[in-house]
Amino acid sequence: MEKVRLGKTNLIVTKLGWGGIPIQRPGEREAVSVIRAVIEMGVDLLDTARAYTNSEHRIGLALQRMDRPVILSSKSLVRTVKIYNEVHESLKQMKVKKVNIYHLHGVSDFEDYEKVMAPGGAYEGLIRARDEGLVDHIGITSHNLNVLERAIGDGYFDVIMACYSFLEPDAAQKVFPLAKEKDIGMLAMKPFSGGVIEEAGPALRFVLATANIVPIPGSETLGKARENWKIFTEGGSLTDKDKERIEAIKKEFNRQFCRRCDYCQPCTEKINIQFAVGLKTIVKRFGPHVQELKWMMDLIEKARNCSECGECLPRCPYQLPIPDMIKENLAWFDSLRNQ
Ligand code: SF4
Ligand code: SF4
Repeated sequence: MEKVRLGKTNLIVTKLGWGGIPIQRPGEREAVSVIRAVIEMGVDLLDTARAYTNSEHRIGLALQRMDRPVILSSKSLVRTVKIYNEVHESLKQMKVKKVNIYHLHGVSDFEDYEKVMAPGGAYEGLIRARDEGLVDHIGITSHNLNVLERAIGDGYFDVIMACYSFLEPDAAQKVFPLAKEKDIGMLAMKPFSGGVIEEAGPALRFVLATANIVPIPGSETLGKARENWKIFTEGGSLTDKDKERIEAIKKEFNRQFCRRCDYCQPCTEKINIQFAVGLKTIVKRFGPHVQELKWMMDLIEKARNCSECGECLPRCPYQLPIPDMIKENLAWFDSLRNQ
Protein backbone atom coordinates (compact mmCIF):
# COMPACT_ATOMS: atom_id res chain seq x y z
CA MET A 1 0.00 0.00 0.00
CA GLU A 2 1.49 3.31 -1.08
CA LYS A 3 2.67 5.67 1.66
CA VAL A 4 3.68 9.31 1.38
CA ARG A 5 6.08 11.34 3.50
CA LEU A 6 4.32 14.59 4.34
CA GLY A 7 7.32 16.80 3.70
CA LYS A 8 9.27 18.20 6.63
CA THR A 9 6.71 16.88 9.13
CA ASN A 10 8.31 13.48 8.46
CA LEU A 11 4.89 11.92 8.99
CA ILE A 12 4.50 8.86 6.79
CA VAL A 13 0.85 8.24 5.86
CA THR A 14 -1.18 6.18 3.40
CA LYS A 15 -1.52 8.05 0.13
CA LEU A 16 -5.29 8.07 0.73
CA GLY A 17 -6.45 10.11 3.72
CA TRP A 18 -10.00 10.86 4.84
CA GLY A 19 -11.93 14.13 5.06
CA GLY A 20 -14.51 14.89 7.75
CA ILE A 21 -17.12 17.05 5.98
CA PRO A 22 -19.69 14.42 4.83
CA ILE A 23 -19.64 12.59 8.18
CA GLN A 24 -21.76 15.44 9.59
CA ARG A 25 -24.76 14.09 7.67
CA PRO A 26 -25.62 10.59 9.01
CA GLY A 27 -26.88 9.83 12.51
CA GLU A 28 -24.23 9.67 15.21
CA ARG A 29 -24.10 5.88 15.54
CA GLU A 30 -23.65 5.35 11.81
CA ALA A 31 -21.08 8.15 11.59
CA VAL A 32 -18.97 6.67 14.37
CA SER A 33 -19.06 3.20 12.79
CA VAL A 34 -17.98 4.63 9.40
CA ILE A 35 -15.01 6.44 10.99
CA ARG A 36 -13.99 3.28 12.86
CA ALA A 37 -14.21 1.27 9.64
CA VAL A 38 -12.05 3.84 7.85
CA ILE A 39 -9.40 3.52 10.57
CA GLU A 40 -9.60 -0.28 10.55
CA MET A 41 -9.22 -0.36 6.76
CA GLY A 42 -5.84 1.27 7.21
CA VAL A 43 -6.32 5.00 6.50
CA ASP A 44 -3.59 6.89 8.41
CA LEU A 45 -4.79 10.49 8.30
CA LEU A 46 -8.16 11.96 9.30
CA ASP A 47 -8.89 15.60 8.52
CA THR A 48 -11.61 17.67 10.16
CA ALA A 49 -12.28 21.26 11.27
CA ARG A 50 -13.89 23.30 14.01
CA ALA A 51 -16.24 24.59 11.28
CA TYR A 52 -17.63 21.12 10.51
CA THR A 53 -20.21 21.11 13.33
CA ASN A 54 -20.15 17.61 14.92
CA SER A 55 -17.26 16.18 12.87
CA GLU A 56 -14.50 16.53 15.50
CA HIS A 57 -16.83 15.18 18.19
CA ARG A 58 -17.69 12.13 16.11
CA ILE A 59 -14.03 11.46 15.41
CA GLY A 60 -13.43 11.70 19.16
CA LEU A 61 -16.13 9.10 19.81
CA ALA A 62 -14.75 6.81 17.11
CA LEU A 63 -11.23 7.01 18.50
CA GLN A 64 -12.36 5.61 21.85
CA ARG A 65 -11.39 1.96 22.18
CA MET A 66 -9.44 2.06 18.90
CA ASP A 67 -5.89 0.76 19.17
CA ARG A 68 -4.64 1.80 15.77
CA PRO A 69 -2.99 5.25 15.93
CA VAL A 70 -3.99 7.83 13.30
CA ILE A 71 -2.67 11.23 12.31
CA LEU A 72 -5.19 13.97 13.11
CA SER A 73 -5.50 17.18 11.14
CA SER A 74 -7.90 19.97 12.10
CA LYS A 75 -8.32 23.67 11.47
CA SER A 76 -10.06 26.84 12.54
CA LEU A 77 -11.50 29.92 10.88
CA VAL A 78 -10.55 32.15 13.83
CA ARG A 79 -8.17 34.84 12.57
CA THR A 80 -6.62 36.09 15.83
CA VAL A 81 -4.47 34.57 18.58
CA LYS A 82 -7.76 33.32 20.01
CA ILE A 83 -7.29 30.37 17.67
CA TYR A 84 -5.32 28.99 20.63
CA ASN A 85 -8.66 28.44 22.41
CA GLU A 86 -9.95 26.68 19.29
CA VAL A 87 -7.06 24.22 19.51
CA HIS A 88 -8.14 23.43 23.08
CA GLU A 89 -11.72 22.90 21.87
CA SER A 90 -10.50 20.55 19.11
CA LEU A 91 -8.55 18.54 21.71
CA LYS A 92 -11.61 18.37 23.93
CA GLN A 93 -13.93 17.30 21.10
CA MET A 94 -11.55 14.64 19.80
CA LYS A 95 -10.57 13.57 23.34
CA VAL A 96 -6.87 13.67 22.55
CA LYS A 97 -3.84 15.43 24.03
CA LYS A 98 -2.45 16.58 20.72
CA VAL A 99 -3.50 17.32 17.13
CA ASN A 100 -0.72 16.42 14.71
CA ILE A 101 -1.47 19.11 12.13
CA TYR A 102 -3.46 22.29 12.79
CA HIS A 103 -4.28 24.59 9.89
CA LEU A 104 -5.34 28.16 9.38
CA HIS A 105 -8.62 27.31 7.64
CA GLY A 106 -9.66 28.77 4.28
CA VAL A 107 -7.36 31.79 4.05
CA SER A 108 -9.20 33.44 1.20
CA ASP A 109 -7.02 36.26 -0.15
CA PHE A 110 -3.90 38.31 0.57
CA GLU A 111 -5.77 40.60 2.98
CA ASP A 112 -6.89 37.56 4.97
CA TYR A 113 -3.36 36.14 4.81
CA GLU A 114 -1.84 39.34 6.15
CA LYS A 115 -4.37 39.36 8.97
CA VAL A 116 -3.53 35.84 10.14
CA MET A 117 0.21 36.43 9.87
CA ALA A 118 0.23 39.86 11.61
CA PRO A 119 1.19 40.28 15.28
CA GLY A 120 -1.80 39.08 17.31
CA GLY A 121 -2.98 37.01 14.35
CA ALA A 122 -3.93 33.34 14.23
CA TYR A 123 -0.48 32.15 13.20
CA GLU A 124 0.87 33.49 16.50
CA GLY A 125 -1.82 31.54 18.35
CA LEU A 126 -0.79 28.33 16.60
CA ILE A 127 2.87 28.93 17.42
CA ARG A 128 1.86 29.15 21.08
CA ALA A 129 -0.11 25.90 20.77
CA ARG A 130 2.88 24.24 19.11
CA ASP A 131 5.30 25.52 21.77
CA GLU A 132 3.04 24.01 24.42
CA GLY A 133 2.96 20.67 22.60
CA LEU A 134 -0.75 20.86 21.74
CA VAL A 135 -0.04 20.61 18.00
CA ASP A 136 2.98 19.24 16.16
CA HIS A 137 2.79 21.01 12.82
CA ILE A 138 1.17 24.13 11.41
CA GLY A 139 -0.63 24.14 8.08
CA ILE A 140 -2.68 26.44 5.88
CA THR A 141 -5.67 25.64 3.69
CA SER A 142 -7.01 27.80 0.89
CA HIS A 143 -9.08 27.62 -2.27
CA ASN A 144 -6.88 30.41 -3.61
CA LEU A 145 -3.71 29.11 -5.23
CA ASN A 146 -2.10 32.57 -5.14
CA VAL A 147 -2.40 32.58 -1.36
CA LEU A 148 -0.87 29.10 -1.14
CA GLU A 149 1.93 30.10 -3.50
CA ARG A 150 2.77 33.01 -1.23
CA ALA A 151 2.48 30.93 1.95
CA ILE A 152 4.86 28.34 0.51
CA GLY A 153 7.32 31.07 -0.49
CA ASP A 154 7.19 32.67 2.97
CA GLY A 155 8.19 29.35 4.51
CA TYR A 156 6.16 29.45 7.75
CA PHE A 157 4.11 26.31 7.13
CA ASP A 158 4.81 22.58 7.37
CA VAL A 159 1.75 21.52 5.36
CA ILE A 160 -0.51 23.10 2.74
CA MET A 161 -3.96 21.96 1.62
CA ALA A 162 -5.23 22.80 -1.88
CA CYS A 163 -8.30 21.89 -3.95
CA TYR A 164 -7.34 19.30 -6.53
CA SER A 165 -9.39 17.25 -8.97
CA PHE A 166 -9.64 16.77 -12.71
CA LEU A 167 -12.11 19.68 -12.75
CA GLU A 168 -9.68 21.83 -10.73
CA PRO A 169 -6.22 20.59 -11.73
CA ASP A 170 -4.21 23.84 -11.46
CA ALA A 171 -2.56 23.06 -8.10
CA ALA A 172 -0.46 20.43 -9.90
CA GLN A 173 1.35 23.19 -11.78
CA LYS A 174 1.00 26.18 -9.51
CA VAL A 175 1.62 24.95 -5.97
CA PHE A 176 2.61 21.28 -5.68
CA PRO A 177 6.03 21.64 -7.37
CA LEU A 178 6.87 24.66 -5.17
CA ALA A 179 5.75 22.88 -2.02
CA LYS A 180 7.79 19.83 -2.97
CA GLU A 181 10.86 22.00 -3.50
CA LYS A 182 10.43 23.48 0.01
CA ASP A 183 9.72 20.06 1.52
CA ILE A 184 6.21 21.06 2.60
CA GLY A 185 3.59 18.34 3.08
CA MET A 186 0.69 18.42 0.58
CA LEU A 187 -2.92 17.51 1.28
CA ALA A 188 -5.40 17.57 -1.60
CA MET A 189 -8.98 18.45 -0.69
CA LYS A 190 -12.09 18.00 -2.83
CA PRO A 191 -10.92 15.19 -5.15
CA PHE A 192 -14.60 14.92 -6.18
CA SER A 193 -14.80 18.72 -6.50
CA GLY A 194 -17.00 18.96 -3.45
CA GLY A 195 -19.44 16.27 -4.55
CA VAL A 196 -19.84 17.47 -8.15
CA ILE A 197 -18.03 14.41 -9.59
CA GLU A 198 -20.02 11.29 -8.83
CA GLU A 199 -17.75 8.69 -10.40
CA ALA A 200 -15.15 7.71 -7.80
CA GLY A 201 -12.90 5.65 -10.09
CA PRO A 202 -11.78 8.31 -12.57
CA ALA A 203 -11.76 11.01 -9.87
CA LEU A 204 -9.55 9.10 -7.45
CA ARG A 205 -7.25 7.54 -10.04
CA PHE A 206 -6.64 11.05 -11.38
CA VAL A 207 -5.53 12.53 -8.04
CA LEU A 208 -3.71 9.39 -6.87
CA ALA A 209 -1.54 9.58 -9.99
CA THR A 210 0.02 12.82 -8.71
CA ALA A 211 3.19 12.14 -6.72
CA ASN A 212 3.74 13.21 -3.09
CA ILE A 213 0.22 14.43 -2.37
CA VAL A 214 -2.37 12.93 -0.03
CA PRO A 215 -5.98 13.28 -1.25
CA ILE A 216 -8.58 13.33 1.53
CA PRO A 217 -11.96 12.22 0.12
CA GLY A 218 -14.72 12.14 2.69
CA SER A 219 -17.30 9.38 3.05
CA GLU A 220 -20.52 9.35 5.02
CA THR A 221 -21.41 5.70 4.39
CA LEU A 222 -19.51 2.48 4.79
CA GLY A 223 -20.14 1.71 1.12
CA LYS A 224 -18.46 4.91 -0.04
CA ALA A 225 -15.53 4.47 2.34
CA ARG A 226 -14.99 0.92 1.06
CA GLU A 227 -15.28 1.96 -2.57
CA ASN A 228 -12.62 4.68 -2.14
CA TRP A 229 -10.31 2.32 -0.27
CA LYS A 230 -10.70 -0.39 -2.92
CA ILE A 231 -9.81 2.03 -5.71
CA PHE A 232 -6.74 3.10 -3.74
CA THR A 233 -5.51 -0.37 -2.81
CA GLU A 234 -6.08 -1.78 -6.30
CA GLY A 235 -3.85 1.00 -7.63
CA GLY A 236 -3.35 1.39 -11.35
CA SER A 237 -3.31 4.44 -13.56
CA LEU A 238 -6.16 6.05 -15.45
CA THR A 239 -7.76 3.69 -17.95
CA ASP A 240 -8.88 4.75 -21.42
CA LYS A 241 -12.45 4.55 -20.14
CA ASP A 242 -11.53 6.86 -17.22
CA LYS A 243 -10.04 9.36 -19.65
CA GLU A 244 -13.20 9.29 -21.76
CA ARG A 245 -15.38 9.86 -18.70
CA ILE A 246 -13.14 12.70 -17.51
CA GLU A 247 -13.45 14.46 -20.86
CA ALA A 248 -17.24 13.95 -20.87
CA ILE A 249 -17.66 15.24 -17.30
CA LYS A 250 -15.40 18.23 -17.99
CA LYS A 251 -17.54 19.07 -21.01
CA GLU A 252 -20.76 18.65 -19.03
CA PHE A 253 -19.65 21.05 -16.29
CA ASN A 254 -17.72 23.46 -18.45
CA ARG A 255 -20.08 26.38 -18.00
CA GLN A 256 -21.61 25.36 -14.68
CA PHE A 257 -18.73 24.54 -12.41
CA CYS A 258 -16.88 27.16 -10.39
CA ARG A 259 -13.14 26.41 -10.29
CA ARG A 260 -12.65 28.65 -7.22
CA CYS A 261 -10.04 30.70 -9.03
CA ASP A 262 -11.41 34.06 -7.75
CA TYR A 263 -10.64 35.84 -11.03
CA CYS A 264 -14.18 37.26 -10.83
CA GLN A 265 -13.33 39.21 -7.67
CA PRO A 266 -13.61 41.84 -6.34
CA CYS A 267 -17.40 41.90 -6.19
CA THR A 268 -18.91 45.38 -5.92
CA GLU A 269 -21.00 44.09 -2.99
CA LYS A 270 -18.11 42.16 -1.38
CA ILE A 271 -19.87 38.84 -1.98
CA ASN A 272 -17.77 35.68 -1.75
CA ILE A 273 -18.67 34.67 -5.31
CA GLN A 274 -17.15 31.20 -5.36
CA PHE A 275 -19.13 30.36 -2.24
CA ALA A 276 -22.37 31.84 -3.64
CA VAL A 277 -22.16 30.02 -6.99
CA GLY A 278 -21.16 26.75 -5.30
CA LEU A 279 -23.79 27.04 -2.57
CA LYS A 280 -25.84 23.99 -3.58
CA THR A 281 -22.97 21.50 -3.42
CA ILE A 282 -21.64 23.03 -0.19
CA VAL A 283 -25.02 22.81 1.56
CA LYS A 284 -25.55 19.24 0.31
CA ARG A 285 -22.18 18.14 1.70
CA PHE A 286 -22.68 19.77 5.10
CA GLY A 287 -26.21 18.44 5.47
CA PRO A 288 -28.89 19.73 7.83
CA HIS A 289 -26.36 21.21 10.25
CA VAL A 290 -25.63 24.02 7.87
CA GLN A 291 -28.02 26.38 9.63
CA GLU A 292 -25.99 26.09 12.84
CA LEU A 293 -22.96 27.56 11.10
CA LYS A 294 -22.86 31.29 11.60
CA TRP A 295 -19.99 31.77 9.12
CA MET A 296 -21.99 30.05 6.41
CA MET A 297 -25.24 31.84 7.16
CA ASP A 298 -23.34 35.17 7.09
CA LEU A 299 -21.98 34.35 3.62
CA ILE A 300 -25.46 33.39 2.41
CA GLU A 301 -26.98 36.61 3.74
CA LYS A 302 -24.20 38.61 2.09
CA ALA A 303 -24.91 36.88 -1.25
CA ARG A 304 -28.45 38.33 -1.14
CA ASN A 305 -26.87 41.74 -1.82
CA CYS A 306 -26.04 40.78 -5.42
CA SER A 307 -27.20 43.79 -7.44
CA GLU A 308 -26.75 41.91 -10.74
CA CYS A 309 -24.36 44.68 -11.80
CA GLY A 310 -22.57 42.15 -14.01
CA GLU A 311 -19.07 43.48 -13.26
CA CYS A 312 -17.83 40.02 -12.37
CA LEU A 313 -19.05 38.43 -15.63
CA PRO A 314 -16.22 39.36 -18.02
CA ARG A 315 -13.65 38.35 -15.41
CA CYS A 316 -14.80 34.71 -15.19
CA PRO A 317 -12.67 32.73 -17.67
CA TYR A 318 -15.34 29.99 -17.75
CA GLN A 319 -18.16 32.42 -18.59
CA LEU A 320 -20.28 31.29 -15.67
CA PRO A 321 -23.57 33.22 -15.46
CA ILE A 322 -22.65 34.36 -11.92
CA PRO A 323 -25.62 36.57 -10.92
CA ASP A 324 -28.12 34.03 -12.32
CA MET A 325 -26.41 31.20 -10.46
CA ILE A 326 -26.44 33.18 -7.21
CA LYS A 327 -30.13 33.97 -7.61
CA GLU A 328 -31.01 30.36 -8.40
CA ASN A 329 -28.93 29.02 -5.50
CA LEU A 330 -30.50 31.40 -2.99
CA ALA A 331 -34.00 30.48 -4.21
CA TRP A 332 -33.10 26.79 -3.84
CA PHE A 333 -31.71 27.36 -0.34
CA ASP A 334 -34.83 29.27 0.75
CA SER A 335 -37.08 26.52 -0.61
CA LEU A 336 -35.13 24.00 1.50
CA ARG A 337 -35.60 26.08 4.63
CA ASN A 338 -39.33 26.36 4.03
CA GLN A 339 -39.82 22.62 3.61
S1 SF4 B 1 -23.18 40.73 -10.37
FE1 SF4 B 1 -23.45 40.29 -8.19
S2 SF4 B 1 -21.74 38.95 -7.73
FE2 SF4 B 1 -21.21 39.97 -9.67
S3 SF4 B 1 -20.01 41.79 -9.03
FE3 SF4 B 1 -22.17 42.39 -9.24
S4 SF4 B 1 -22.96 42.23 -7.14
FE4 SF4 B 1 -21.06 41.02 -7.22
S1 SF4 C 1 -17.12 32.25 -10.73
FE1 SF4 C 1 -15.60 31.97 -12.38
S2 SF4 C 1 -13.96 33.42 -11.90
FE2 SF4 C 1 -15.23 33.25 -10.07
S3 SF4 C 1 -14.17 31.73 -8.82
FE3 SF4 C 1 -15.71 30.66 -10.05
S4 SF4 C 1 -14.69 29.98 -11.90
FE4 SF4 C 1 -13.37 31.51 -10.95
